[in-house]
Amino acid sequence: MTVSATLAANEAVAARRAAGQEVLALGFGEAGIPVHPLLSQRLAKAAGRIAYGPVAGTDEARDAAAGYWTRRGNPTEGGQVLLGPGSKPLLFALQHAVGGDVVLPRPAWVSYAAQSQLLGREPIRVPVPEGEGGVPDAALMAAAVRDARAAGRDPRLVVVTLPDNPTGRLASEDAVQALCEQARELDLVIVADEIYRDLVFKPGAFPSPGRWAPERTITTTALSKNYALGGWRIGAARFPDSDLGRRIQESVRGIASELWSSAPLPMQHAAAYAWSDPAELVDRVAMARRLHGAVAGAVAEVFAAVGCHVRVPQGGFYVWPEFEPLRAALAERWGVRTSADLARVLLDEFGIVVIAGDAFGDDPAALTIRVAVTGLYGESDSERLAALVSNDPLEMPWLAESLDALRDKLKALVA
Ligand code: PMP
Repeated sequence: MTVSATLAANEAVAARRAAGQEVLALGFGEAGIPVHPLLSQRLAKAAGRIAYGPVAGTDEARDAAAGYWTRRGNPTEGGQVLLGPGSKPLLFALQHAVGGDVVLPRPAWVSYAAQSQLLGREPIRVPVPEGEGGVPDAALMAAAVRDARAAGRDPRLVVVTLPDNPTGRLASEDAVQALCEQARELDLVIVADEIYRDLVFKPGAFPSPGRWAPERTITTTALSKNYALGGWRIGAARFPDSDLGRRIQESVRGIASELWSSAPLPMQHAAAYAWSDPAELVDRVAMARRLHGAVAGAVAEVFAAVGCHVRVPQGGFYVWPEFEPLRAALAERWGVRTSADLARVLLDEFGIVVIAGDAFGDDPAALTIRVAVTGLYGESDSERLAALVSNDPLEMPWLAESLDALRDKLKALVA
């Protein structure tokens, strides 16, 4: 197992900066906004909580997470919730507990496939519906699962990401409903990774799979994205109130007891506060949503202006440009034939750090990259805070400058 592509990109940035070279750090999926003081205070107050605590989490945090989901249209009791040190280990434990083979959208966040490989199985990748992201196309999934079963494999689980990393797209209600119906037909468990849920730019009904397949959907969330607290390592899973849900939950609890014992208690105390949706924090997430939406939209336009094919981001903080229309020029000028070539040229020649599409399971020959826009928000907490509270973050001088630099470098790439 090699270091995760996204964490490796982070290390490439540090190395270039240490060598005094300029970088546009658009690789790592960190949310890029400072911690809210009320959350720090809450955490500091709980520093004395040094016990391990219950494996599933404290009643306080489980009840708060249940409230979070209930207020978002998914009625939940604290007993249906299990906490972990981030949602990443919870997602691993879920794959382990369900067993068999996992079906993933193509492209999908890097770690689902890596976690499947840790369990000794190659994932079954199914393309997303045209123009969408985060869910496999339902009809293609049915065909792939039947083929896999006929070949002796054992698909039991499908993972979806709403809204999506890497594409920045939110799957349509039709696509999610079709996926849910097929999952029931094929008897697949659904894991809905909704870690970016509160960062959907436009208000409206959220297409959570729990609406159409409540009996088989397990939902995960965390504080890492909406509150930018990735390093605090706290996440939660919600299990359905069904025999299937209880069975999987009990198995995940067993795995948790052997892998991480319990989520850190001070973080659980802070998370309980965040998941109660106090007005100050709801405002904070609204500002983050505005910032991500403005910058992701602007970055998508920069890529479109040089001739990339790029769909408008709908949530989170990623853009997924396709350089296919520029293939001939990139091959001739730079010898670029794969997404890995493209990412390497962007880094070596232009100091732009992005992740190649093949890290997300895309066809290596497809010229796709994932751009994390939060690297543009500023160098210091004070710059990032100013961008966060601004009504027009694109007017912040450092942000405007970085966008200009990106524009100039891309023009030079395709010139
Ligand atoms: N799911 C997705 C789609 C992500 O992008 C990430 C973080 N990059 C995670 C899960 C894991 O986040 P955490 O472990 O911090 O909860």
